[in-house]
Parts: sequence; C-alpha cells; structure tokens
Amino acid sequence: MIDMFDPSPFSEQRLRMVAEQIERRGIHDPRLLEAMRWVPRHLFVDPEFQEAAYEDCPLPIGNGQTISQPYIVALMTHLLRLKGSETVLEVGTGSGYQAAILGLLARQVFTLEVYPALAEAAARLLAELKLTNVEVRVADGSLGLPEKAPYQGILVTAAAPCAPGPLLEQLGSGGRLVIPVGARGNQDLQLWQHKGTRFFSKDIAPVAFVPLRGSLGWKENEWR
Ligand code: SAH
Repeated sequence: MIDMFDPSPFSEQRLRMVAEQIERRGIHDPRLLEAMRWVPRHLFVDPEFQEAAYEDCPLPIGNGQTISQPYIVALMTHLLRLKGSETVLEVGTGSGYQAAILGLLARQVFTLEVYPALAEAAARLLAELKLTNVEVRVADGSLGLPEKAPYQGILVTAAAPCAPGPLLEQLGSGGRLVIPVGARGNQDLQLWQHKGTRFFSKDIAPVAFVPLRGSLGWKENEWR
C-alpha cells in the first residue's frame, strides 16, 4: 500500500519532519518512520493550517480539539511496540491522523470519538486513504470498547484523571496502554503494561493534552 502512494506537494516537508523531529530525537523504528513518511498529515488539519502541518507543534482540528505534535504521535506509537498482528484501540479519534499511523502498523484498529462531526470527517479521510482496517465509532472511549477486546495496544489521546479501569481490563496479556494522565498544565504520559495478572506503570514524559470527557474523564467544572 505504501508504494502506491502518490507523492503530494508536501512530501519533502514530510521527509524533513521525520528526519528532524522524530529520528533526531531518538526514535528509529523503521516501520513507524515509514508510516510517518507516508501519511499525508496536511489533509488532517484545517485547510488554513496546511502549511504548518509538518511543523514541530500541535494544531487545531475543529471542535476545540487539537492534533498532537508529530513527535508525540511517534513517541506514543513507539511505546506500543506494534509488530503488525495486533488489535489496537484508540480513544480520541480527533482528525484521524494517529489512527492512520496505527492502521499502517497494526492488523486492526478501533478508534472512538465523542464528537460525531470529527468522527465522520476522520472516517471519510481514512477511507480515502484506503485504510480499511481502521474503524471509527462515536462512543465514550473512557469505557473502552469491550465487545472487541482484548487489545494488545490501547492509546488514549486525551488527558484522563487516572488510567480508566475498563481500559486496563480490556488489555490482553502482554498488552500496553499509553495514556496522558493529569490535569490541565500538569500531565504525564504513562505506559501501563499487563503482565500475567498484574499491571505495571511508569511515567514517560510531561505532556499537554486536551481533556478526556465521558464517564471516567474530566467533568467540565474540573478542567480549569
Ligand atoms: N488522536 C487525535 C487527536 C485527538 S485530540 C488526532 O490524531 O488527531 C483528543 C480527542 O479526544 C478529541 O477529538 C476529543 O473530542 C476526544 N475525546 C475526548 N473525550 C473522549 C471520550 N470520552 N471518548 C472518545 N473521544 C474523546
């Protein structure tokens, strides 16, 4: 699929983004780098931000939400250690960019979004890119998607008060959950691993995400 891609007007910017923002910061997984060289990130941002799509920063995607900085997408994806055979759950579809990267690296991806407008736009774009193994659903992702569990990887792209129990329960043995945890201005990216009957977590890096909503997310009045 990757070989068939029509090089876009932004292909040079994309190669530079991967070299300067991702490889230079120490991520060298060849499959991940190839996926990031392929996915046309400029199609996932608002048209007025297309020129900035390959810069080292997050960007608005509508409904008050943001697409993460490319390096954070790379770091979170890298932490899942995907080999290609996995079923993966993403919470927070947003633009669908992260889901597209996951779609190239895993067997099957389910991605959940609360805003129907974002979910529809993402689903349309993912279909145009022929990423048929990515399924977008409108749902409260703080509860996961039990009917498709277990997942070998779960990636949450909005900040939660803590790692939601249902997501940990839906992790298969050996599975990994990557999630930003904390309040506005004070979040850590956490990696959770399910080993045997136990869960291990570690803090990876300070991050800044929009809030996770829904039953196990932040309430409107808690996020100030
Ligand atoms: N991964 C996205 C960026 C996501 S921004 C991308 O690559 O573009 C975080 C997203 O999480 C927002 O779109 C927000 O609407 C969504 N979100 C917040 N709470 C949610 C919940 N409980 N369930 C599903 N999606 C949620």
